[in-house]
Amino acid sequence: MNIAHEAIDRHVAEGRGEHVALRWLGKHDERAELTYAELAVASNRFANVLDALGVRAGDTVFVLLGRVPDLYVAVLGALKARAIVCPLFAAFGPDPIRQRLALGNARVLVTSRGIYDRKVASVVADVPSLRHVLLVDSSGPGVLDLAALMADASATYAIAPTDPEDPALLHFTSGTTGTPKGVIHVHQAVVGHHVTGQEVLDLGPGDRFWCTADPGWVTGMSYGIISPLTNGACLVVDEAEFDVERWYGILQRERINVWYTAPTALRMLMRAGAEVAHAHDLSALRVVASVGEPLNPEVVVWGREAYGLEILDNWWQTETGGIMIANRRGIAVRPGSMGRAVPGIEATVLQRDERGSIVRTDDGPVEAPVGSEGELAIRRGWPSMFRGYLGMPERYAASFEGDWYRTGDLARVDEDGYFWFVGRADDVIKSAGHLIGPFEVESALMEHPAVAEVGVIGVPDPVAGQLVKAFVVLREGVTDDDALHRDLMAFARRRLGAAVAPREIAVRAELPRTRSGKIMRRLLRDVAEGREL
Ligand code: AMP
Repeated sequence: MNIAHEAIDRHVAEGRGEHVALRWLGKHDERAELTYAELAVASNRFANVLDALGVRAGDTVFVLLGRVPDLYVAVLGALKARAIVCPLFAAFGPDPIRQRLALGNARVLVTSRGIYDRKVASVVADVPSLRHVLLVDSSGPGVLDLAALMADASATYAIAPTDPEDPALLHFTSGTTGTPKGVIHVHQAVVGHHVTGQEVLDLGPGDRFWCTADPGWVTGMSYGIISPLTNGACLVVDEAEFDVERWYGILQRERINVWYTAPTALRMLMRAGAEVAHAHDLSALRVVASVGEPLNPEVVVWGREAYGLEILDNWWQTETGGIMIANRRGIAVRPGSMGRAVPGIEATVLQRDERGSIVRTDDGPVEAPVGSEGELAIRRGWPSMFRGYLGMPERYAASFEGDWYRTGDLARVDEDGYFWFVGRADDVIKSAGHLIGPFEVESALMEHPAVAEVGVIGVPDPVAGQLVKAFVVLREGVTDDDALHRDLMAFARRRLGAAVAPREIAVRAELPRTRSGKIMRRLLRDVAEGREL
């Protein structure tokens, strides 16, 4: 059971080698295409290069590149060589790079000259495990010229027998709440990637699929590389960053059928207006799916108007390796809900006591009654379940409560099995005895026509414990004045009631985000409480 075999070689063996696997759109409007057969050969060569360098099963190969074809070749080739692949986001600076290379025991790093000179050269001495740096675009002292090595390497490669439990992927979590943890996934995960690609994203051969996440994050790996390839689709990759016109241009020109993106991007597209969407021919689009943050119901409703489609919110996290809860074909969307557990996955909400601990009896943890809030949990044992936190066995063990994996998210489940996100357990606000989920407040404010984005936190209050505070980004062209503030406050109170509505609303030009685009409520709390950032 080898991920790269399932993603690439299987299609070639079954006669689909001439299908396009990867269509690459460069920053400067360059284009390149690789068929499954070409990707098979290129990844074979890369696997041979690693073997020749003495890389063994279980060694870690880091890939630090922008979204260029070499990245995809290196990831798949390293999986063939049974190395553990750790993709890093190319916009990281030297510190996070050094920290992750060292934590992950990097043996090989694949990167480019520009990134190497600016960010890596100064930190290699701090990573004693690192034996080889391969540059995709040049040679020089202390580094190897990957193109030359590839040209000399054999085009054939026999993948050695791979145990489904062999480690395959290492992802550092985005750290919305603290220091990054290395999350380990095994080759067996491909079963989950494949099936959820079919069930949730409706992927199949001939589809042109665009996942807008960078492969430096788990979404960009599980669904930006593995799942579309195992399902025989054509992966469309855009090297450039978000831009409204560029994105609609890609959806139109490339005739994208299935589009997997994130709430932040959708909110920005919403801010630009449905007219912009209507000015493009998006008739090829069949599935629009969203992940990574809560998707405000307002955006789902807007999506119906803008795209004539339901935006399918789905939930998962680095540790789950693949989609766990989803809106998908055959299930009516309830705007604001993440949908239902996908086939094969058992999800529940565990009851918490006053202090936030899980309630247990001798029979194990107690499930919360329908409709009440608790911690979202998944029954252990699904294929793409993480198999460890690197170097933190106790931390891993502590993530499970009996048979349940604790997600750290709070949610509710209704009588029909739809899950409703409340917030990260650490982000939940307790005001005058009420537990308030920031997402609920954010979604209500999002419905105000002046509002483009919202982040809600609790600020300390001697009387109520915490008070709700909202940071708001306004839509283009809206002026920030007292009348607007009064209107926003009144709007929130009407929608939410006085107990839940924010006491304070601050207007900001933007909100702090993680590199993967999630609003960092932890930083908003630092701002609100005057702590140094
Ligand atoms: P990461 O491990 O960095 O991918 O982050 C996973 C976290 O993002 C989850 O634990 C949730 O807090 C949040 N998240 C992901 N998808 C959703 C969603 N559809 N709705 C609400 N929160 C989400």
